[in-house]
Amino acid sequence: MNLFDLDQAAMRDYFTGMEEKPFRATQVMKWVYHQGVTDFEAMTDLSKSLRDHLAGNTDSPLPSIISEKTSTDGTRKWLLQVDDDNAIETVFIPETSRGTLCISSQAGCALNCTFCSTGKQGYSRNLSVAEIIGQVWLANKQLGHFASRKRIISNIVLMGMGEPLLNFDNVVKAVELITDDLGFGLANKRVTLSTAGIVPGIIKLSECSRISLAVSLHAANDALRDELVPINRTYPIRKLLSACRRYSEATGGEPITFEYVLLKGVNDSLADARELARLLKGFPAKVNLIIFNPFPGTEYSRSSMETTDLFRDILVQSGIITITRKTRGDDINAACGQLVGRVKARAARSQTRPMANGCA
Ligand code: SAH
Repeated sequence: MNLFDLDQAAMRDYFTGMEEKPFRATQVMKWVYHQGVTDFEAMTDLSKSLRDHLAGNTDSPLPSIISEKTSTDGTRKWLLQVDDDNAIETVFIPETSRGTLCISSQAGCALNCTFCSTGKQGYSRNLSVAEIIGQVWLANKQLGHFASRKRIISNIVLMGMGEPLLNFDNVVKAVELITDDLGFGLANKRVTLSTAGIVPGIIKLSECSRISLAVSLHAANDALRDELVPINRTYPIRKLLSACRRYSEATGGEPITFEYVLLKGVNDSLADARELARLLKGFPAKVNLIIFNPFPGTEYSRSSMETTDLFRDILVQSGIITITRKTRGDDINAACGQLVGRVKARAARSQTRPMANGCA
């Protein structure tokens, strides 16, 4: 049994199941997530017999670090081995007022968005809870959080490799641990899940979570979105927006962030901007314009800064809060859409479209 696979409820069940008091879960979680201690021998407020039992019957394996790179802008990227065939990437982005950790939810991705290099790797498998929360634990350790007790990671975004809503149960449990006071204690608002638009997953998430939601929109009409984000053929824009509205209502009117990567000559015209403004008019929306990060073999290129500013101005003039996301860490291939890890795709993409499952 891997300790990192258990959220608080599961850990309480584990201890009561062995005739121990449920507060053992509180003690162990504080050691693991507050002190950064995973060696049971060091958990001095547990009895010797319980420590021995845990040491003999549980384990806390985490992904191992293959490499760590630091960008000239301070962004840090870790390549983490999760099994013999797969490695994933995790990125820390320091800013003056916050520190954001971008974590992966799958090894590879099955969605094959045309402008994303992760998609080009194919899909291998879902990450376990331990592999998802392990990224947060490891980054905290590497950044010196456990030693300094200072909060270095203030925000977490599920925007790394993979489609989080296609690994629903494990992602929801990992988010539990991220937001739990006995875990990393981050406010729901500081955790953002980004999805390419898995409609049933958004609806299920609205029933069990209050974290921030971001949606990779990238086009304001179905013809273009079908091409850029192929999952749109299954969940077209009208259905997507209706699920987003439901999510916003469930969170008390919080806006949904719509991500829009500007691709030169593809979706960046002024007509595209006006169409997007019309689509989102009256919707609880914020728009994040993303500068395209090229990768080898891509057919796309970056829109000019002038086009980007004009596009933003049209949205702002229509009353939509719009920001242009700064590119960070591109010198170490740590920017959006550049995370590839080392993935051994199991099968052709068309056969690997796992469906979101029930609420955890
Ligand atoms: N599967 C999820 C999360 C991963 S992608 C999703 O699609 O939202 C995180 C963000 O990076 C998404 O908005 C995605 O569209 C964007 N992105 C992907 N490739 C990119 C690229 N080459 N340049 C810039 N942004 C990219």
